[in-house]
Amino acid sequence: MKVFKFGGASVKDASAVQNVAHVLGLYSGDSLAIVVSAMGKTTNALEEVVADYVQGAPGLSAKIDAIEKYHRDIIKELGQLSAEGIERVEGFFAALRQRLAQPHSDNYDYDYDQIVCFGELISTAIVSAYLSGRGVENVWADARNLIRTDNTYREAHIKWEKTEQLLAKAWQSAVEHATQGRVVMITQGFIGHTDERNATTLGREGSDFTAAILAYCLGGESVTIWKDVPGMLNADPKYFSDAVILRHISYREAIELAYFGATVIHPKTIKPLQNKGISLYVKSFVNPNEKGTEIAGSTFSDSLMPSYIFKVNQVFISFSPRDFSFIAEENLGELFHYFADLHIKIHLMQNSALNFSICTDFDEEKLNRLILLCKEKYEVHYNVPCELVTIRHYDQETISRLLIGKKVIVEQKSRRTARMVLMEA
Ligand code: ASP
Ligand code: MG
Repeated sequence: MKVFKFGGASVKDASAVQNVAHVLGLYSGDSLAIVVSAMGKTTNALEEVVADYVQGAPGLSAKIDAIEKYHRDIIKELGQLSAEGIERVEGFFAALRQRLAQPHSDNYDYDYDQIVCFGELISTAIVSAYLSGRGVENVWADARNLIRTDNTYREAHIKWEKTEQLLAKAWQSAVEHATQGRVVMITQGFIGHTDERNATTLGREGSDFTAAILAYCLGGESVTIWKDVPGMLNADPKYFSDAVILRHISYREAIELAYFGATVIHPKTIKPLQNKGISLYVKSFVNPNEKGTEIAGSTFSDSLMPSYIFKVNQVFISFSPRDFSFIAEENLGELFHYFADLHIKIHLMQNSALNFSICTDFDEEKLNRLILLCKEKYEVHYNVPCELVTIRHYDQETISRLLIGKKVIVEQKSRRTARMVLMEA
């Protein structure tokens, strides 16, 4: 059995959905568990809906109408959808409106998950109905029955044992009912459910992780993430016209690249695959016959070329105790507490006797709140805007090339990785 994941861009309009069917046609003999994201930018649109809903903003109903129209236009253009599938989609449109007609709770993150999950529910219902309409037998499965999590809304953690049981049972039943000699299961990425059967989400861009969960729990032979890029590249083609594809990399290298900010795969995706030795492929849905990138155990070709990862719009913040005390564990404990409270993610840190510094995403509002919390005990300085550059398998030539026109604020080097916070010179 293979697990496929199709992200928002691969189902953003009717022709994209038709292309998904075309890609699946190349695997007509395989059993497939298929994870699909919300269509296009629907998750962002639903995030706005949640904000308006909770604030009681007047723009809410126009926003729901727009989301519904976007999906209805796609349905109309696709044409041949199964009646059962259409009914399911209509049910979700109605359930979303019903949800939004009820008063909100006092837990924003809970409300968020109950609403945002509709993006995935609707998209998978459409894809499933379209495949059925074309005679491709498939089972639509609700991840709110399959992926069991704790109740950390918006960042839920998987309950692996229960999830494994639920998935095994659903798959077994699909096998028993299959009449075309294989199983095609369509389910939502990114969403799960609690013991109390409330919807949860796994964190933005979490659909890759769902694909890994399915492969881990169902004993999949591989996971393929279908993307609008030819594979994992050694640099973002937005910044590097000569970016090249990484054909084979190890799990370890992929985790490092994802951790440092390569956005091709979600960092949580690798661990379950590594644990069971399941290969991960990143392939182009535009050219599905091309090889793409294979991520597996072998570290053989990891260091063959440098990889560059850029994080732009960063801020570099330094803290120094006003009473001239050394930066010691107590100060660090206190500062980390503030970072956690404000959900500040540290991308790089550095300390000296009287200074502790971090590089993080620049968010003016958070920065002001942080300064307010710290200002009594710490003097706070910051540089903005900065960029954080990570080079895996660096050499001096590639570093020098990157530094043209830039001022280095901080540089950290380990054996494999060089990281620099830069500003325009
Ligand atoms: N639809 C969700 C998001 O946009 C999950 C995903 O696409 O991975 O974050
Ligand atoms: Mg994505």
